[in-house]
Amino acid sequence: MSDQLFDLICIGGGSGGLACAQRAAEYGARTAVIEFQRLGGTCVNVGCVPKKVMWNASGVALSLHDANDYGFDVKVGESDWAQLKRKRDAYVLRLNGIYERNLAAKGVAYVRGAARFVDAHTVEVNGQRLSARHLVIATGGKASLPDIPGAHYGISSDGFFDLETRPRRVAVVGSGYIACELAASFRELGSDVDQFIRKDRLLSNFDAMLSKSLMREVRALGMNVHERVIVAAVREDAGKKTLVAEDGREFAGFDCVLWAIGRAANVAGLDLHRSGVALDDLGYVVTDAFQNTNVAGVYAIGDVTGRAALTPVAIAAGRRLSDRLFGGKPDRRLDYGMIPTVIFTHPPIGTVGASEAEARAAHGDAVKVYVADFTPMYHAMTSRKTHTDMKLVCVGPEQRIVGCHILGSGADEMLQGFAVAIRMGATKADFDDTVAIHPTSAEELVTMR
Ligand code: FAD
Ligand code: NDP
Repeated sequence: MSDQLFDLICIGGGSGGLACAQRAAEYGARTAVIEFQRLGGTCVNVGCVPKKVMWNASGVALSLHDANDYGFDVKVGESDWAQLKRKRDAYVLRLNGIYERNLAAKGVAYVRGAARFVDAHTVEVNGQRLSARHLVIATGGKASLPDIPGAHYGISSDGFFDLETRPRRVAVVGSGYIACELAASFRELGSDVDQFIRKDRLLSNFDAMLSKSLMREVRALGMNVHERVIVAAVREDAGKKTLVAEDGREFAGFDCVLWAIGRAANVAGLDLHRSGVALDDLGYVVTDAFQNTNVAGVYAIGDVTGRAALTPVAIAAGRRLSDRLFGGKPDRRLDYGMIPTVIFTHPPIGTVGASEAEARAAHGDAVKVYVADFTPMYHAMTSRKTHTDMKLVCVGPEQRIVGCHILGSGADEMLQGFAVAIRMGATKADFDDTVAIHPTSAEELVTMR
């Protein structure tokens, strides 16, 4: 079949690919998206969206627990996992349809199938060749599984979203975003949860205050966090799984094992070698500050580049790339500094900028830190308590704020606005000069001494 020629082709119809293609089409570029699974990618199908539904469900469970303390006569029953999953799946399916209609409305060609490179500017899909002046690799990531005996007895986050019923006893292995979020959802919806971490900290890539505070909160929820366990094997006997640690310890009786030990670039099957595009030592596509790969006219965006694997980052990189290629904005690119992020635990964590340790390593004694910790007023009425911890990391005589870290109720919604101010170079004095909103938790951020 003869080649079809486009101005831009995005391989991957996830957060990055869709955003990039649609922005290019808005500029009048002839554009295609190639996707072999469901439109929307990880975020919509097996990531942010169904995860947030589960986080909301956990939040409802916690609120129901508190309802009696606020004077309601509520008897709390079991949550119906199967029903929730059905509704969640239906919601995701609706979103898939919306994404497809959006592509059609913008005039982006939607090619269903798996792409593989023929050369740097041509890909093959279902036996058909498509060529473009600009080719964008936006194939995302996939869950890493450990290379140990019995690893197949466990599931990844993809498997979490397939679960039809809630397992009674769960082992979660890992200490990052996914491990902490999904462990908390399991627990708050009623499972017994043991989390196994290699080090002595949850979220070891974040400010130490957040790790410590989260450990306190999850233990208060009744989760067992086992520190310094390196899982070396998994056994299954009569449906129950046993984790065997490197040091010989055994942890038995689990109905479900969830691996959440990181993700890797999804480049298998792309025949990347035919394009000449270089990968780094970890298998991510190497890109410069403008999302260029080492091959002219081939770009990469999103998780496949190994930089800040977050949906808004993939979207922003994709849109800016199209602004640059088709919108007459030659300098347009994503600034990867000061990216705010939320970890959807209960209470949630919101964090932006440098941790205290990173700031001290870079600026030494020029760093000044402000902290606040308190029990939110909501809990004045409840027997269940959570705690809030906040930290501002400031640098230099002007006390420019370079980091803001919050664990506490409302942190997820609180951070976005503060991130704008911090990105604009706000100082501690700017925060102090801002009149507080009372009574809120957020007001503590502008009243710290
Ligand atoms: P993806 O969204 O993964 O899209 C890549 C697409 O490429 C996929 O649809 C894939 O099928 C397709 N593809 C791959 N190879 C080919 C091929 N050869 N041909 C055609 N198509 C191909 N981020 C947040 O910001 N907030 C959150 O709350 C959040 N929660 C998350 C929860 C979980 C459990 C997970 C796993 C991730 C979460 N993320 C979250 C991260 C977020 O989902 C990713 O950063 C985002 O989806 C990356 O977008 P992308 O476009 O790079 O890749
Ligand atoms: P993360 O990178 O967040 O965490 C994985 C952690 O697992 C590592 O930091 C490491 O921590 C630990 N680990 C690595 N290998 C092993 C091993 N063999 N055994 C035990 N532990 C191990 O990865 P996730 O998979 O949780 O998430 C992937 C990415 O997806 C995130 O980085 C984030 O960008 C994105 N995401 C974003 C979310 C959000 O925005 N809310 C939610 C979910 C995902 P240590 O070194 O401490 O052992």
